[in-house]
Amino acid sequence: MSTEHATSPIGAEPLIDIDGLGVEYRSRENGRRSTVRVIDDLRLSVGRGEVLGVVGESGSGKSTLAHALVGLVEPVEGSIRFDGIELVGLTGRARRPMQKRMQMVFQNPQLSLNPRRTVGDQLSEPLRIHTDLDAGQRDERVRSWLESLELTPDIASRHPHELSGGQAQRVVLARAMTLEPEVMIFDEPTSALDVSVQAGVLNLLRELRDANGLTYIFITHDLAVARYLSDRIAVMRSGEIVELRPTTELFSEPEHEYTKALLASSLQS
Ligand code: ADP
Ligand code: MG
Repeated sequence: MSTEHATSPIGAEPLIDIDGLGVEYRSRENGRRSTVRVIDDLRLSVGRGEVLGVVGESGSGKSTLAHALVGLVEPVEGSIRFDGIELVGLTGRARRPMQKRMQMVFQNPQLSLNPRRTVGDQLSEPLRIHTDLDAGQRDERVRSWLESLELTPDIASRHPHELSGGQAQRVVLARAMTLEPEVMIFDEPTSALDVSVQAGVLNLLRELRDANGLTYIFITHDLAVARYLSDRIAVMRSGEIVELRPTTELFSEPEHEYTKALLASSLQS
């Protein structure tokens, strides 16, 4: 892989610096244990304030990369530096301040919410864990983020099953935003939504980023979505980044054969 692909945008200080990353899963087939390497020698820098799109077919390791970033899987080798702090090997209590600074939003919002608890409870919970805010300040913070996400305050008394898909995804976004993270990692956050609802959420994400100077890592299999949001796009295949370019360049002059194939197939669908 050319090292050129891994450079961060000119002038931007890398906020996230991934080097030589390797992730393996253990599997058991016919009683025999084996390991499968899902991310291999991956290098990637993300600039502060950048939106990095990550595209690639199903199974290429996009989610695994996101999980490694937030500590849901432990890499077998390599390093992930966030604002100069090594995240690999950082567990438990030591990882907590990082959780606040880096939030992840998953594909299915209903699965990210507890069906038995009200929206309001679930929105203030992270604030109780991660901040010193008192109950009144927590309510205020929650109210203000609900408003930013164009949700009415009455939504706080509802249970998740009383929300539409779009509302549920906005609630999950609000919950992440209340912690005022620096980085948001999205794993296909709109693919479970209707197209019209998806457009609304993507618009909001763009506004949130502009208003708050956030850094996004945005995973999607949908090239049009990646194009809409991203400053640069990384194309993943079999656990490697095969091409990483500014968005306009990637679309106008794709270099890698796999990128070309991906662009061609997205035009057909
Ligand atoms: P993507 O998000 O691009 O679809 P994933 O990161 O989910 O890809 O998966 C990459 C590869 O790792 C796939 O082959 C998948 O089957 C495998 N994989 C993902 N999660 C696990 C797991 N928990 N255990 C074993 N294999 C896994
Ligand atoms: Mg995935």
